[in-house]
Amino acid sequence: MFDKVLIANRGEIAMRVVRACREMGIKTVAVHSTADANAMHVRMADESVCIGPPAAKDSYLNIPALIAACEITHANAIHPGYGFLSENARFAEIVTAHNITFIGPTAEHIRIMGDKVEAKRTAKMLGIPVVPGSDGAVLESEALSIAAGIGYPVLIKAASGGGGRGMKVVTHEGELLSQLNLAKNEAKSAFGDDTVYMEKYLSTPRHIEVQVLCDMHGNALHLGERDCSLQRRHQKVLEEATSPALNQNQRSEIGTIVADAMRKLGYVGVGTVEFLYENGEFYFIEMNTRLQVEHPVTERITGVDLVYEQIRVASGEKLSLVQKDIQFNGHAIELRINAEDPQTFTPSPGTIKFYHPAGGVGVRVDSAVYAGYSIPPYYDSLIGKLIVYGRTREECLQRLRRAVDEFVVDGIKTTLPLFQRLIKEPDILAGNYDIHWLEKYLGMKH
Ligand code: ADP
Repeated sequence: MFDKVLIANRGEIAMRVVRACREMGIKTVAVHSTADANAMHVRMADESVCIGPPAAKDSYLNIPALIAACEITHANAIHPGYGFLSENARFAEIVTAHNITFIGPTAEHIRIMGDKVEAKRTAKMLGIPVVPGSDGAVLESEALSIAAGIGYPVLIKAASGGGGRGMKVVTHEGELLSQLNLAKNEAKSAFGDDTVYMEKYLSTPRHIEVQVLCDMHGNALHLGERDCSLQRRHQKVLEEATSPALNQNQRSEIGTIVADAMRKLGYVGVGTVEFLYENGEFYFIEMNTRLQVEHPVTERITGVDLVYEQIRVASGEKLSLVQKDIQFNGHAIELRINAEDPQTFTPSPGTIKFYHPAGGVGVRVDSAVYAGYSIPPYYDSLIGKLIVYGRTREECLQRLRRAVDEFVVDGIKTTLPLFQRLIKEPDILAGNYDIHWLEKYLGMKH
């Protein structure tokens, strides 16, 4: 096992990793930009190193500074958290070349899953259901016949796209070629690559993702799903486990498919395979080769500490669990609390004057803020996650309403008032929503 882990991240996820390491008897090194000198993750870790000025490209994305920080502190592993360098294959390679363990999968697996066309091809080969569509890039000359084969509406997507950008829905063949050329031009200017591919457009899907956990000894297991359909501009806002749309058979069926696929791939670490789900069918969209923001809902209903397992498997140990140990008990919901105006979603950095996190039975808060802390304007606006558990979904929602009312963050604007309204909506209470629900709701109310 590692003596010392450097955490190449900030905020609540850096705290999450420090906590797991401390329980495991591993020393921790925090890194920070000059803007984060007073951040809680810096105070919590055993040691800290300043790695650069505020801009992320000069600090949290500064690979030479991170490697140097590891060398001067004698850390033997790097945990990348999520975001920043967590899915950067080149970073994983450089870390490994310096005889430091990258706590994550191999650079090769990161690279495959980072390329949308390659990821889809690999998923299909491994037996994971994918959205019907073109086999890779679509040329203008073959576009009409490919679209006819898929059936309208179709979706044109940029191979190098990301963040849900550069997609075009085409409802009939008269529009296809003009939309194809538009998509190519946009892809070229946004991503420097005009390669596009085509998929069947799903009109009212849910976003359901499967959590996997794998070691270097050929063991791969799944920890069920999370439903992350409540999104705004493709950003998740509220996540829950289990999904209100799946029963135990469906859960174990898709979970087994994904775990078997990961075993075949030789994947190591934690990972999430994301699907769109419509009319009882799963369609692969992408795989995230890292820990996710919403991992606590899975931890809450399975009792598994994902970061503990992630660190263990990275050090070469065997999984401490087998599939039948994974039981799904009760229900958990996570709310992402952002420092944003709850009406306009514009960022609201500033100083927190008073802070009172919710507590009590079934409540977990993962956050790195405190009263007196100034949220810097340079980074993501996520300031905390409220995760609530109940034996049933009803109990969970009831407790969630109580916890949201109790939560106080003064001095800045947060998305808490949005949640106060949201979790009383009949569709949310009924679990009746798809990936478009939240945007329609926000459009209606403003
Ligand atoms: P990106 O990498 O740009 O985020 P994804 O393939 O993950 O692209 O898709 C982003 C989002 O676009 C999905 O979460 C979903 O909301 C929507 N989307 C993607 N593919 C389809 C599809 N075939 N039909 C309908 N919506 C889709």
